[in-house]
Amino acid sequence: MNPFHKPKKHPHDIRQPILALRNITVQFGQALALHMVSFQLQKAERVAIVGPNGAGKSTLFNVIAGLLSPTDGEVKIYGHAPSHHTCIAYVPQRNEVDWQFPVNVADVVMMGRVGRLGLFNRPKKADWEYVYQSLDLVGMANFAKRQIGELSGGQQQRVFIARALAQEAELVLMDEPLNGLDINSQADILDILKTLSQREVTVMITTHDLNAVVENFDRVMLLNQRVLAFGSAEHVLTPILLNQAYQGRMQLVKTKEGTIVIHPNLENRHKRHTHV
Ligand code: ADP
Ligand code: MG
Repeated sequence: MNPFHKPKKHPHDIRQPILALRNITVQFGQALALHMVSFQLQKAERVAIVGPNGAGKSTLFNVIAGLLSPTDGEVKIYGHAPSHHTCIAYVPQRNEVDWQFPVNVADVVMMGRVGRLGLFNRPKKADWEYVYQSLDLVGMANFAKRQIGELSGGQQQRVFIARALAQEAELVLMDEPLNGLDINSQADILDILKTLSQREVTVMITTHDLNAVVENFDRVMLLNQRVLAFGSAEHVLTPILLNQAYQGRMQLVKTKEGTIVIHPNLENRHKRHTHV
């Protein structure tokens, strides 16, 4: 992309689905990360991707965001290839962000507008209005001048959602946004994701929290290199399918409050207990 020119908005064919993958395969050397993944999303859907560590969840997001070329297959955003789409916002896993980088909250959110502004055009009043409206929507307007590194994990996630809003993203990909958050911060994020879908934004997250999935997502994808199931939580989060995805390494324990899943992939010292 030539940074001196305002990037053209990528053409959209609105008769096509917002996201369509056909036979996506990703191979890293000998290792198969994704195999023949095909699915389509409808506008404003909230979708959660569930699967063990190494299932290919982050790889899938990298492919959708146009950061990684698949070995085989095709990704289409409204009928077009994904690179340079300002309509996709990708919130990476928290441990992949340098939180010591000295930048305040408002500037992080303004970065969402760079794709529309062009790198060397100064933000206008309308751009700052977008930034503050977006911060307001995620309840972070009072933190605009704070350093991003000073915020809690949940607040940082909310700032990244504000950045996606400022970008006017139509598809938001969030990699494990609930990880390491307390119950209240998780609920805040899930509420904001609901608001996004009410505003016609399509949301895809990865998570290990099956409990959150049951109540807050329209569809759940069970992924382990291939799509093992994709549908309502009720149909996808069954013991048989979960065991298939986690290859029997997962323990389902029946309790009075429902079935608890003990994830094997999160090591003994911080095993997670999730109600299904
Ligand atoms: P998940 O996010 O579900 O934990 P990933 O998408 O990170 O899974 O990884 C899927 C598989 O691909 C893993 O086996 C991982 O080691 C491998 N992998 C991911 N990224 C790379 C890379 N850049 N180079 C080589 N192997 C990779
Ligand atoms: Mg991952």
